[in-house]
Amino acid sequence: LVTRLAAPGRGDTHCPYCALQCGMRLTGTAVEPRDFPTNLGGLCQKGWTAAEVLRTPSRLTTPLVRVDGELRAASWDTALDLVAAKLARLRDAHGADSVAVFGGGGLTNEKAYLLGKFARVALGTAQIDYNGRFCMSSAAAAGMRAFGLDRGMPFPIDDVARSEAVLLVGANPAETMPPFVQHLTGALIVVDPRRTATAERADLHLRPRPGTDLALALGILHAVVAEGHYRGDYAAERTTGFEAAWRLAAAWWPERVERVTGVAAGDQRRAAALLAGARTAHILTGRGTEQHSSGTDMVGAWINLALALGLPGTPGSGYGCLTGQGNGQGGREHGQKADQLPGYRKITDPGARSYVASVWGVPAESLPGAGRSAYELLDSLGREGGPRALMVFGSNILVSAPNAGHIAQRLSTVDFLVVADFVLSETAALADVVFPVTQWAEEGGTMTNLEGRVLLRTPAVSAPDGVRSDLELLRALAIRLGQPEHRFPADPETVFEELRSASRGGPADYSGITYSRLRAGDQLHWPVPTTDHPGTPRMFLTHFAHPDGRAHFTPVDYTGPTEPLDDEYPLLATTGRVLHHYQSGAQTRLVPELNAASPEAFVQVHPDTASRAGLTDRALARVTSRRGSTEAVVHYDPTMRLDTVFLPFHFPGAQRANLLTNPALDPHSRMPEFKVCAVRLESL
Ligand code: SF4
Repeated sequence: LVTRLAAPGRGDTHCPYCALQCGMRLTGTAVEPRDFPTNLGGLCQKGWTAAEVLRTPSRLTTPLVRVDGELRAASWDTALDLVAAKLARLRDAHGADSVAVFGGGGLTNEKAYLLGKFARVALGTAQIDYNGRFCMSSAAAAGMRAFGLDRGMPFPIDDVARSEAVLLVGANPAETMPPFVQHLTGALIVVDPRRTATAERADLHLRPRPGTDLALALGILHAVVAEGHYRGDYAAERTTGFEAAWRLAAAWWPERVERVTGVAAGDQRRAAALLAGARTAHILTGRGTEQHSSGTDMVGAWINLALALGLPGTPGSGYGCLTGQGNGQGGREHGQKADQLPGYRKITDPGARSYVASVWGVPAESLPGAGRSAYELLDSLGREGGPRALMVFGSNILVSAPNAGHIAQRLSTVDFLVVADFVLSETAALADVVFPVTQWAEEGGTMTNLEGRVLLRTPAVSAPDGVRSDLELLRALAIRLGQPEHRFPADPETVFEELRSASRGGPADYSGITYSRLRAGDQLHWPVPTTDHPGTPRMFLTHFAHPDGRAHFTPVDYTGPTEPLDDEYPLLATTGRVLHHYQSGAQTRLVPELNAASPEAFVQVHPDTASRAGLTDRALARVTSRRGSTEAVVHYDPTMRLDTVFLPFHFPGAQRANLLTNPALDPHSRMPEFKVCAVRLESL
């Protein structure tokens, strides 16, 4: 394993988009790939064209303030004074929780950290959460439950490359993070209702009915045990709870699972044999199996399978989650989550509260408790006892939140909406004040990729005049809200130094990571408890993070999606990403090449299903769920299941797939049920 790379040179940076954080070099405004362990010199189209976003003509370079219903240019001082005065008035009149903050999984570690501190110290509000709640939260909750700690991949990507068998569940990296497929060299099993570009490469493609993944995991576990592949020695030495988990799984023999999922019993047994027969194997989950109202249990079922096969904590094998957003891992560790403080500490833990309060120089009693989760926070906007103001950083919730029509209605009820962004996103266009902020290559800061590897971004180009960083914005507002200047630094390295202290001794311990080590090329996966510690690329090799040192099987049972099909809504809709766009599309829709390749929303559907709805290929369709309707162009795909349609969620306005999605929440992670809802298809 490479522990040190050449020190990054001038213009060396990382892609602004996904959690692979591919290495790239920016010369002027041209991008070229840079060799890095995650991308091995490769980039996808999004990465190749990332510099286009830096020079987009849509760039905001002055704050905007709404006057008489219109957003008008204003000076920074005017906008800052206005926002600080309004927030202070709301806080004084209605209490601290009348102001809410919404962050993002693409923000640097420094921004995520300072945003959490800003909310809890400068505003005193408990109401802060972020869009990662809509992304990896079920995997995080399941990882915490099973291992006592959540790090997306608790092993380096190199281990996946050497793995003899990989089971990929609900992930389509051939489109979402193409360079990743270079690491899939062993036998590949893909679980996905669709014949995706990744499934095309698989040795075995299991196509469950959407929402039935948990039953499939139980069926494969049943086959593992029934065929004698269960690793009883590993389970006895390193785990607890198998018997309770098995009591539920024992009822899910593969033929019964076939009736629920549609996956042939023989294929379930083949998957079990492929995984059990490999000397090293990985089970990796993605959003497809995580974004459900039972997402934590679904991931728990795949982790149970991994534990039965003896994979977690075994050199060369493991269970991991393919984190999606660029800083999806770091974004959940430093305190922008409703229930957490920096260092991935629980906000309800008295020891954690005292420690973090001491780093922040405030009394522990002054720190608010846990706030509402992302959907619950947005749903409470403008209601009795709910927030009256919302500040949004690094997120385009109007497009990316579930039940988007309802969220738009809630946003319209707030007294005051503030958005920090570098373009006028769909959410920013609704704001009362918009702050123009720097973007990826214009600013410094650290990101933590899908392997828990901490990367340093240094500015590769200058920001346009008139633009400031989110850190400068938070500092300026905090000072106006009465905070001492030293408490809110705006220099990324100074913020990181404080983050190091705040994380010391916590589960995600960054205290041994310094900018100078990262500048020297050190490859550091957290935890890194001291400055001479080499980092922890492989976790759990000797013990798991629970007090008993063991991994815990979880008893989980299949219950199915929350929403029934009926005559009015006879089809299952599932959503996801396409090769040319990223998340809400706020960045990638600005890139002419990407927009030309994928210009509009579509609904992927089997020709027979389309024709039953009177639709031909390329016709304009309306897709309607119990919450709303969206418009999309019909794309025939004879490989689609007859009962399922697929829509990408990158498009705005009437093309938003999230107008359909179901906000039923997972009881553990508070993840909405993005990945399956009942719909009907008709001609527009
Ligand atoms: Fe790499 Fe992801 Fe960027 Fe594509 S979007 S270049 S896979 S980091």
